[in-house]
Amino acid sequence: MQDPSRRDLLKAAVTGVAAVALPGIAADGIGIAADGSGVEAGGSGASSSAESHSAKLTGRIVRPNDPGYPSASLGWDELFVHYPLVIVFARETQDVVNALAWARQNDVAVRVRSGRHSLEGWSNVDNGIVIDVSELKSAQIDTASRIATVGAGLTQLEAVTMLGKKGLAAPTGTEGSVGLAGATLGGGFGLLTRYLGMACDKLIAAEVVVASGADGAKTIKVDTKNNTDLLWALRGAGNGNFGIVTSLTYKVAPIKGVAYVKGTWKDLNDLHRVFDTWQRTAPFADSRITSQLEIHKSQILLVAVLVDGTEAEAKELLAPTLSVGQPDVSVQVGDWGDIYAGFQVPTANDPANWKFFSQFTTEPFPKEAISVIGSFMQHAPTDDSNFFTNAFGGAVKTDEPYRGASFAHRDALFYSEPGAGWGTRGNKESGAALTPKVQAWIAEFSQALRPYVDGAYVNVPNIGMQDWETAYWGPNFDRLRKIKAKYDPHNVFQYEQSIPPA
Ligand SMILES: Cc1cc2nc3c(=O)[nH]c(=O)nc-3n(C[C@H](O)[C@H](O)[C@H](O)COP(=O)(O)OP(=O)(O)OC[C@H]3O[C@@H](n4cnc5c(N)ncnc54)[C@H](O)[C@@H]3O)c2cc1C
Repeated sequence: MQDPSRRDLLKAAVTGVAAVALPGIAADGIGIAADGSGVEAGGSGASSSAESHSAKLTGRIVRPNDPGYPSASLGWDELFVHYPLVIVFARETQDVVNALAWARQNDVAVRVRSGRHSLEGWSNVDNGIVIDVSELKSAQIDTASRIATVGAGLTQLEAVTMLGKKGLAAPTGTEGSVGLAGATLGGGFGLLTRYLGMACDKLIAAEVVVASGADGAKTIKVDTKNNTDLLWALRGAGNGNFGIVTSLTYKVAPIKGVAYVKGTWKDLNDLHRVFDTWQRTAPFADSRITSQLEIHKSQILLVAVLVDGTEAEAKELLAPTLSVGQPDVSVQVGDWGDIYAGFQVPTANDPANWKFFSQFTTEPFPKEAISVIGSFMQHAPTDDSNFFTNAFGGAVKTDEPYRGASFAHRDALFYSEPGAGWGTRGNKESGAALTPKVQAWIAEFSQALRPYVDGAYVNVPNIGMQDWETAYWGPNFDRLRKIKAKYDPHNVFQYEQSIPPA
């Protein structure tokens, strides 16, 4: 959390109460055309680079005094509030090139944003520029070759729905409003993961705007033949580290339908047996099935998806866990796109503030670890708290993509995280009193599990963690630093846990 006095100062600065002095910026504070529409860098709309001339912002530009500024600057997790100097909603790749060159020429801090779900607020920055790609919504789906190229602005729900209509799927996370780009570039796992692997494993090409020369920007193509080192880096470490991804190309898979299973235990009495059975079976089951556990204050939920299978088959594959105690079990069979849309919770119904702590596990939790989960969950600070797990194994373990990936947790049995939500959306004060309590609970919970976990997930960053570099990327970190030095030698893309150039 930032010192409030500094935040107040920054707020005053960007809302015009105090003067902002930035070198090389026009009197309106931002170098855009007088009518606000912007002009192309160097006057050339066709150019995909902007160097050695004065760059201007283009696209849909939102500044502090604009009526849309409060909503344009708000992220999904309202715990983090930032006051950027300007937000550029890119409408084409050239807007991104111009914005990056402008930021470099005016020495303004850059953040990249897609679906706004950064869990530490790192896609936004006080007094800097947010380059937002969420309006890049194009999609080209080639059903014959099973290759889909999409703009970096799609949400996961939009991507799953579009692909689903053509009988295709790519692995994604479970929350539809999360940005496809943000999820993919850090890994991306969910209910198709054991069948199809990580989202980043299916990434076969990307268009990326990178810093160029002393103060410019340019677009490069990344695929299995061009800039292959960057493709490897984008598959697990691409979030805000090397450049701004403007389009992503995936190898997608045909999928006929799924069986979606929900099992609910109404208390935590069977926690030890449910958890232990799950962790010893779910990561080794038929790779068509992926399951998750959610342990709440007073109930356990199991969610699973079996690809191209029947209700009976799904129940049989989950029988070891579902036969513990007497869970309520329901099964829905249908199209993946419909089922995925059906389990979404509208953001408006979510609490305002969220905190999670990510961890991977390579050895089954002993009894003591499961007791830790039970005891912390019984004392959870809010009703919207849970301990979440997602089974790994299957394709994640066996199907590393051609040219490899920087994602480093292929041997995990499962991913897990304690998490809590609190406060009312749009009302900053509503959760303030609970914030220290929740933060202490998460810190103590994750500390108590430390002996049993191994590594962390960059998409759910652990602020304040020592050795986060190796926790996220293991032995891949050194290579990532070299790739950073090649594509971003001036460290233009930096934030609290960004990769420093070698
Ligand atoms: C409610 C919720 C549920 C989640 N569930 C899952 C899950 O099931 N599985 C899973 O794997 N993860 C899950 N996550 C984590 C999620 O994958 C990350 O939060 C993800 O990074 C969010 O991406 P975004 O585009 O929405 O966020 P943003 O805030 O826009 O960006 C997140 C990060 O990616 C960078 N970034 C965004 N777009 C680009 C781009 N085009 N080029 C370069 N860098 C970019 C940003 O700079 C920032 O560092 C969940 C998160 C939340 C909040």
